[in-house]
This record gives sequence, C-alpha cells and structure tokens, in this order.
Amino acid sequence: MQESIAIVGAGWAGCTAAYRLAQAGYRVTLYDAAAQPGGRARTWHWENQEAFMLDNGQHLLIGAYHATLSLLAELGTLTQLQRSPFRFCYVDGYGFKPPAWVEGSPIKAYLPPSLQLLIAWLNGTQSSTEKWALVRFFCYALGCRWQAPDGQSVIQLMRQYRQPANLVDRLWRPLCVAALNTPIELASARVFLAVLHDTFFGPAGLANDLPPATRMIKREKCHPTDYLLPKCSLGELLPEPICAWLTQQQHDVFLGELVTAVRPLSGNAPGVSVQTRQHIFQHRACVIATRWQQLTQILPPAILTAQQHQTSAQPAQPITTVYLRYPSHYRLPAPIQALRENTDNPGQWVIDKGQLDPKLAGLFAVVISTQTEIKLTQTNLVGAVCLQLQREFSHLQLPSQALDYQLIQEKRATFQCDTARVTPSPNTLHPAIWLCGDYLLARYPATLESAVRSGNAVAKAIIERFTG
Ligand SMILES: Cc1cc2nc3c(=O)[nH]c(=O)nc-3n(C[C@H](O)[C@H](O)[C@H](O)COP(=O)(O)OP(=O)(O)OC[C@H]3O[C@@H](n4cnc5c(N)ncnc54)[C@H](O)[C@@H]3O)c2cc1C
Repeated sequence: MQESIAIVGAGWAGCTAAYRLAQAGYRVTLYDAAAQPGGRARTWHWENQEAFMLDNGQHLLIGAYHATLSLLAELGTLTQLQRSPFRFCYVDGYGFKPPAWVEGSPIKAYLPPSLQLLIAWLNGTQSSTEKWALVRFFCYALGCRWQAPDGQSVIQLMRQYRQPANLVDRLWRPLCVAALNTPIELASARVFLAVLHDTFFGPAGLANDLPPATRMIKREKCHPTDYLLPKCSLGELLPEPICAWLTQQQHDVFLGELVTAVRPLSGNAPGVSVQTRQHIFQHRACVIATRWQQLTQILPPAILTAQQHQTSAQPAQPITTVYLRYPSHYRLPAPIQALRENTDNPGQWVIDKGQLDPKLAGLFAVVISTQTEIKLTQTNLVGAVCLQLQREFSHLQLPSQALDYQLIQEKRATFQCDTARVTPSPNTLHPAIWLCGDYLLARYPATLESAVRSGNAVAKAIIERFTG
C-alpha cells in the first residue's frame, strides 16, 4: 500500500521533497499557505505590467549548485538558465578583470578556470599589495584545508590572513554579503570558507550542458563560479513544473491552504494529523518545509529538540530588490555587474533583465542585501539607486529617473549565517515528523541549493525509514 506523506510548505525544499517521494511511489499531499508555490523564490506579477512576470527578489544561481542543476535537468528547465562567466569587477576596473587577450579568445578554452581567475585578478586596477594579499589569502586557506574554528567571524579571518582594509571593503565585504547575506562582522568564517572552496575549486557538473552566453566561446567549459541567471521566472524554473507534474500524477496540491497545526495521532495509531482552517487530514508521516521561524507555531514544542528550538529563534537578514524600467534601448555592459556601495549609493548589484529575456529590455534589477536600517523612504531609495546607476554607467547617459519602478523588501529573506548559528537534525522527536528547508545544511548559507539538497535528503531518509 502507498504510504501517504504530507508536506507543509511548497518552497524549493518542500517541492523537491514532494517530487522525490512521489517518484518513489508514495502518495503525496503538498500544502502551502500562499496562492502560488515557490516560497521565497516564487514568481511575482508586476501590477499594471502584464508582460512582466518577475521574481519575489532577484536570484542568482552558480555552477556549483549541483543538486539544483540536476533537478532542473530532470524537469527540463535547465536550459532556462543563462550562463555567464564569474565577473566581480567594478566599473573602474577594480576586481577580477579578464585581459582582452583572454576574454573572447580561443586560448580561454585551454586555460584552467583557476588560472583564468588569477590572471583576471592580476589584471584588475587594485594595488599590487592588494593583488598579492588575495593570493596569500588563498594560500593560507589551502594550508588550513578551508576550515576555520566555529566561533570565528569573517572579519576576524580577514585579520588573521592579513588582508588590507581597502581589499576587505571593496572585495571581501561585498562577497561575504552576496554569499551569506550576513554582515562580515557577524558572518561565520567556517561557512564562508566552505562556500569559497566549493565555488572556486569544486566540480562544475551539469552546467556544462548549458549554451554559453554570447560573450563566452563555444568550447569553454562551465566553472562552478559561473553565474547562472534565470531567463524565465523562478516559479517556472522549478516549483510550478513540480506542482503541475504532481497534479497530473493524481497527487494533491493544496495552495492557499494555511496549516495551523501538525499533531501526532493519539493512542498507538501511527501517523499525524494536519490541521488547516477548515479541515483535519490524516497522513502516515509529515515533512515540515516552512521557514525556520515557523516550526514552533505548527508543531507541539515537546517534539522539537533543544537545537530545533534554538534554530526557530535564529535572526533573519533582509534583501531589497528595486526593479527599474527604462526605455528599452538601454543595455548595461554585462548581464550582471557589481556596484560600489556606500551611504549615498545603496545598490550592490545590478542585473540587466533585458539580456536574459528580450521582452524585458530596459528593465534593471538592483539588489540591496543585509542593510537592516535603510533610513530612506521608498521614493528616496529608488531615487538614490537611479542616480547611482546614472553615475556608475555615465557613458550610457541613463536618465536621472526611471519610467517606472517596483520595490520588493523581504525583511526575513534568509537566516543570519552567523558564528552562533546551530544546524539542527531534520529528525524531530516524533518518528513520523521530519523537517526540511534551507536552514538544515551546516556547510552552506540560505540558498536554493541548500533547499533542494535538504528536500533530497529528507525524501531519502523517509524512504529508508519505510523500506528499511
Ligand atoms: C529576495 C531574496 C533573494 C535571494 N537571493 C538568492 C540567490 O540569489 N541565490 C540563492 O541561492 N538563494 C537566494 N535566496 C534564498 C532562497 O530564496 C531561499 O534559500 C530558498 O528559497 C528557501 O527555500 P525553502 O523551501 O527552504 O523555504 P521557503 O521558500 O521559505 O518555503 C517555505 C514555504 O512554506 C510555506 N508555509 C509557511 N508556513 C506555512 C503554513 N503554516 N502552512 C502552509 N504553508 C506554509 C510558505 O508559504 C513557503 O512557500 C534569496 C531569498 C530572497 C528572499
């Protein structure tokens, strides 16, 4: 007989778990409080702009996202990603700036990716002290096997590895925020080193199948640092195809259904009850795939471990995305560009959506992470971002105001990946209730990859429990 498994939460973690369990022959019921699947990585419709299906916040995938890329390949949506080479270079040439004799030349296909990065770094406009400090950083990290003590923050790591202040401000601080969405003073050095290792030295996997962007040459292999930008909306990439497949396979997908409580069945009956506002359903087992903060709202406290209780109180960090619409002939020099951030210039990254989908020509997404205290009003923030783009890309002669804008502020975009963070087990104290979500992987910060890996892992654990 098919065991019936409930999954509460149709984010990327819950969708992955549901898909894997259904593939293994279990009867799956997927619940989500929202009207559409995807959670924090869902499609969002720009009001009054019928053509614009955007995301709940601009997302970036990279070549090192093995589990995610493998799942997208199964779903047939892998080709919806556009691959472009890692480029962390400001408009003034500071950073990784590939020289003309490498960029776009056939020689590139024969250079190992790490050598390409080294050449690009040595070609940047930073001082030679800073150039050698970065090389020293990687040598130290290699010597320590990419490990750091648990309580060490990234800023302490920078001091230990003798990184100059300007290099910390212009390279390490923004890289840390981009990777961990946590300020460098709080961020965990252990997780940061793990991310750097897997991104710069891990295998690239499936992304080799992706057609390279126009600026990349044909034979160029994909590197784990490569940026993979979605050409479609995030919903179309994974959660919507999974929900459509589940429905087609006669599984239940209940969207707009808030789960108010999940309780073990009373007596000796195996299984759980899932309570929504109107109904109570019974299942053999349940996976809670919500955010970390919602565990204690849905589950009885007695079935959570001490670490799971501690996790539910982990602080969050925000991400703001400002979508700006300019006349369609405006095009940035690259699909993604790092911006120089300071008090007057809040933007950290800009993505030219028109280079991913021609329908979106002239639409730019500016990302602002971790600034818990943006003191500007919405209109002033948008105004400041427009002026920042106008200054940074002065050769484009952008107007001082966009035609239209949308601002999406996610106050609890990710958990704070700090030195005090604990990673709990996905097993609760009840044998039929499991946890799943981006917060369950000790090695990584909150990412789509962590969510997908966690979904795969919980499905495997459930299958082993019922078959073993
Ligand atoms: C603006 C922004 C930008 C980001 N950028 C990146 C990026 O560039 N790269 C990257 O890898 N990651 C990025 N992330 C992080 C990434 O989106 C998350 O790590 C990932 O989506 C988490 O997925 P999840 O399934 O674990 O959780 P969630 O997406 O939070 O899913 C939880 C689901 O549970 C549902 N739910 C909650 N409570 C209930 C209830 N009581 N009943 C029913 N349903 C419930 C919610 O509606 C939600 O759908 C970003 C996040 C944000 C917000």
